Amino acid sequence: MVRLLGRFVRAESPSTDKAAVDRFGHLVAAEWRRRGARVQILRQRACGDHVRAELFLGHGRPRGQILVLGHLDTVYDVGTLARMPFRIARGRAWGPGTFDMKSGLVIALFAVDALRRAGLRPSRRLVFLWTSDEEIGSESSRAIIEREARQSDAVLVLEPADGPRGNLKTARKGVGEVVLVVHGRAAHAGLNPEDGVNAVHELALQVARLMRLNNPRRGITVNANVIEGGTRTNVIAERAQARVDLRVTRKADIPKLERLIRSVRPVLKGARLEVRGGIGRPPMEQRMARALFQRAKELARRMGFELRESFVGGGSDGNFTAALGVPTLDGLGGVGAGAHSSHENVVIRALSERAALLAGLLLSERRLRGVAK
Ligand SMILES: [Zn+2]
Repeated sequence: MVRLLGRFVRAESPSTDKAAVDRFGHLVAAEWRRRGARVQILRQRACGDHVRAELFLGHGRPRGQILVLGHLDTVYDVGTLARMPFRIARGRAWGPGTFDMKSGLVIALFAVDALRRAGLRPSRRLVFLWTSDEEIGSESSRAIIEREARQSDAVLVLEPADGPRGNLKTARKGVGEVVLVVHGRAAHAGLNPEDGVNAVHELALQVARLMRLNNPRRGITVNANVIEGGTRTNVIAERAQARVDLRVTRKADIPKLERLIRSVRPVLKGARLEVRGGIGRPPMEQRMARALFQRAKELARRMGFELRESFVGGGSDGNFTAALGVPTLDGLGGVGAGAHSSHENVVIRALSERAALLAGLLLSERRLRGVAK
């Protein structure tokens, strides 16, 4: 598993570099072909190609489908390896994308190998979808993910586990971004300031209003994290804008929050506001993971370890599938630390454990649909 992880990590694959993601995608596709999967390369113009691998290990006709989700892209530019090489130290594998989430891709391959070697035959069709643009919002893959999820009884997501004990992720916040643009009017700050409308002042007032939309108890956060505006100190600012991060725990809170944000009115006379964006990823609500998590816990117990669950603020492609009402369990990938940082790493010992857990879930004969809404 470590050897394959090394090959995967050395094929750098930043979301923004199509050629690089495609090269890595072909490497992954080749591994699936070697295992007898029917592999399709889903060509994309702007971003990297997505890879779909379909496998049926059972007898006769498949009884349903399980979708396994992961992404090929990372947040590290090509060349990062030079200062952050793939290496093994202290029982961990280090390097860009080891944790998020090339270890997840390795785990899936070895889960299938384990089923084969043990002569175990899942009765469902297994579809593995490896997308190229998760780290930049999944714009090109969302429709494909949703189409596949609608035909599936369950979705297993190989994003990194949470924390050192490898917690699974059973709930995630919904995530969005809003851009608030203020249009004012330029004037000389000394000669005729009264003819101007200061867009920076207006934006400051609006940001103060946005702050009041925070509701930590309900899990609603609104954070203006990027602001820009104005040109020179002696010119009344004509334009200013804020980029705002939105997060919600409950799907039901989205319409009201979006309505409140869209209905902002200018405070200063003559200012004009423009609002774009909203919640892009709906929340992954815990009830969609309940049955699958129970199953995973039971499998882990039989394998001799304890498995816990986490609720996290960050989104993944599991948010899309859970929002469709398809049972979704996330965080089944590597156990490690330092995602998106210079010390990203995975625990080597946990790799085989996670592959065994995934194999057990793929084998599950139980009804997975129809959890209480
Ligand atoms: Zn990821």
